[in-house]
Amino acid sequence: MMEFENKDIQTWKDQYPLLNKLISLDEVFWLNPNIEKFQTGIKKLPLTQEDVSDAEERLNRFAPYIAKVFPETQKMNGIIESPLVDIPSMKQSLEQKEQQYILGKLLLKCDSHLPISGSIKARGGIYEVLKHAEELALQHQLLTIQDDYSILDSDRFRNFFSQYSIAVGSTGNLGLSIGIMSAKLGFNVTVHMSADAKQWKKDLLRSKNVKVVEYEADYSKAVEEGRIQADGDPTCYFVDDENSHDLFLGYAVAASRLEKQLEELEITIDENHPLFVYLPCGVGGGPGGIAFGLKLLYQDHVHCFFAEPTHSPCMLLGLMTGLHDKVSVQDVGIDNVTDADGLAVGKPSGFVGKVIEPLLSGNYTVSDEQLYKMLKELVDTEGIHLEPSALAGMIGPTKLYNEGIDYLLKHNLVEKMSKSTHIVWGTGGSMVPEEVMIQYYQKGLKVTLEKEK
Ligand SMILES: *Cc1c(COP(=O)(O)O)cnc(C)c1O
Repeated sequence: MMEFENKDIQTWKDQYPLLNKLISLDEVFWLNPNIEKFQTGIKKLPLTQEDVSDAEERLNRFAPYIAKVFPETQKMNGIIESPLVDIPSMKQSLEQKEQQYILGKLLLKCDSHLPISGSIKARGGIYEVLKHAEELALQHQLLTIQDDYSILDSDRFRNFFSQYSIAVGSTGNLGLSIGIMSAKLGFNVTVHMSADAKQWKKDLLRSKNVKVVEYEADYSKAVEEGRIQADGDPTCYFVDDENSHDLFLGYAVAASRLEKQLEELEITIDENHPLFVYLPCGVGGGPGGIAFGLKLLYQDHVHCFFAEPTHSPCMLLGLMTGLHDKVSVQDVGIDNVTDADGLAVGKPSGFVGKVIEPLLSGNYTVSDEQLYKMLKELVDTEGIHLEPSALAGMIGPTKLYNEGIDYLLKHNLVEKMSKSTHIVWGTGGSMVPEEVMIQYYQKGLKVTLEKEK
């Protein structure tokens, strides 16, 4: 990238010493020097609470339709939401293995078990498709916002939507969400898949009448090609993972849902009861949207950390250098090769990076070996199966205590930690085929045994 070439890499390393460790693929923990008090930070942002509420109301309007076409959502009345669960045995295991107490509660947010597409993308991805469908139907006066949206489950609407197409570039999970939802409504949908996308995801999409185009290159290339093809077709809507405000807002709705779940568990979040949230980060929309929603709700009482693979620390690099999407991990010689689906992203969203800059507490990296180790451990201790990327948040609490003490001191948190809550965001896994999950577990077992030798 041009910007990066203007200075030689040594100059960058002198300015940001952490870059040395990042390039050596060591795990790092970075505190964001640009975090601001919520009240000042929020004023700089292009999105507001009204935008998030608007997204939440739209999802409520679609709930009768979702309940009808995806029967697994009936017990939630068509609201696509995941459980928040206590993981005390995993907590104990982390404390032993990492030789570090975790003061406060440790909870897992199971977006791995979101209905329809089994990952965090069932928030943003599905929301964006629904919003586009609603816009088209309203424009053509086929629908009013007072209607019962279950009428969308009809040949009339499917025929209407079949005149339009939707396209997206994806490493896998976004493709699943956009593909499944779009096909269900009746759209023609094309998913442009990067080389690292798993075969079972492509097979699943094809079985649902989704067109899958495969690329030899990484995620950025798949997005670029998808965008070019969509640009040439006025009836085609391109879901732009790198810049989409709609995706971001769909994710942000998670916050008010989480608030209800915390209330049900009788967990208070306030000045004396801080909340720490650990979010796996790819291009940034998912974790960024959720962090944004949580900051609107809990302001300075919530502390959000992003987690990235050591081989794909794109958001950390973009935030640290202030270059955002003008720099890729490849520019500094990092290969962007990781087993963490959804996190194998070389270049972050510039839009998300700038929005999150005044709100984010920090960012850390985690090795693939560590992901596999924790994957196995979570199965053994809690019987919960996640995909490797979804475990990036799991090491957050011990990392915070081991390497983030400056943060706790600076924000007057040390005394409050025994009353704190840590939420690890488990971003995917329930749709992974059993034989693939067994391989993941075996890999975790192997890594664990090697480490113990
Ligand atoms: C996409 C994804 C993420 C990260 O979301 P981004 O919006 O790309 O940052 C995390 N975990 C899983 C399993 C994902 O599929």
